Amino acid sequence: MKKKILLVEDEKTLAKALKFNLEKEGFEVAVAYDGEEALRAFPREKPALIILDLMLPVIDGYEVCRRLRRNSEVPIIMLTARDEDIDKILGLELGADDYMTKPFNTRELLARIRAILRRTGRQTARGKKILQRGELRIDMIRHRVTVGERAVALTAREYALLCLLAANPGRVYSREQLLAELWGRTYDGDARTVDVHIRHLREKIEERPAEPDLILTVWGTGYKFKETDGAEDV
Ligand code: CA
Repeated sequence: MKKKILLVEDEKTLAKALKFNLEKEGFEVAVAYDGEEALRAFPREKPALIILDLMLPVIDGYEVCRRLRRNSEVPIIMLTARDEDIDKILGLELGADDYMTKPFNTRELLARIRAILRRTGRQTARGKKILQRGELRIDMIRHRVTVGERAVALTAREYALLCLLAANPGRVYSREQLLAELWGRTYDGDARTVDVHIRHLREKIEERPAEPDLILTVWGTGYKFKETDGAEDV
């Protein structure tokens, strides 16, 4: 079955071109031209993913995202201008899954869409909703991470990285594997990007980030999540 994408974009020419390219790649596409229309279309269209422009008439993309997130975890890719606050977009306040800065490359957008759909598909297929690793708890339905009582704010990338590692404790991932899994195969990035995300993640979830207890370095190879006896997934 074709996956449906809800495209929210008020620039008609861009919307038309994107719709054409997405359909060519096998997606079904519904288009909304303003925020109000997007919120009306969402329950009707039940999309697998939303591409959401930030600057929209009637209700802007920030507000649309906020309202969608009240009762939906649908993956959202934001289309932004260069000077937007990315931390805010990907952070807990809005909770978009990824973003593209205009003007962007359609192939890169398609790679991001596929990576996100693969990720969410895998999580559903595995059927796990909560990963408990000692004090660390990952609620995969609500995209919430807590350490004990403390809520941890992660970016979308950090969250995806943590889910992948924690869902497969003991499995060693190379930097290249992690790049391919999380950034898509066409991403031509530096493997050190992975190290930076791992460092941020450790600072947020580890008790002593310099001597990590959960996300372990495998020298010369990459990273793995600590194997635990008491791992309980629900
Ligand atoms: Ca716009």
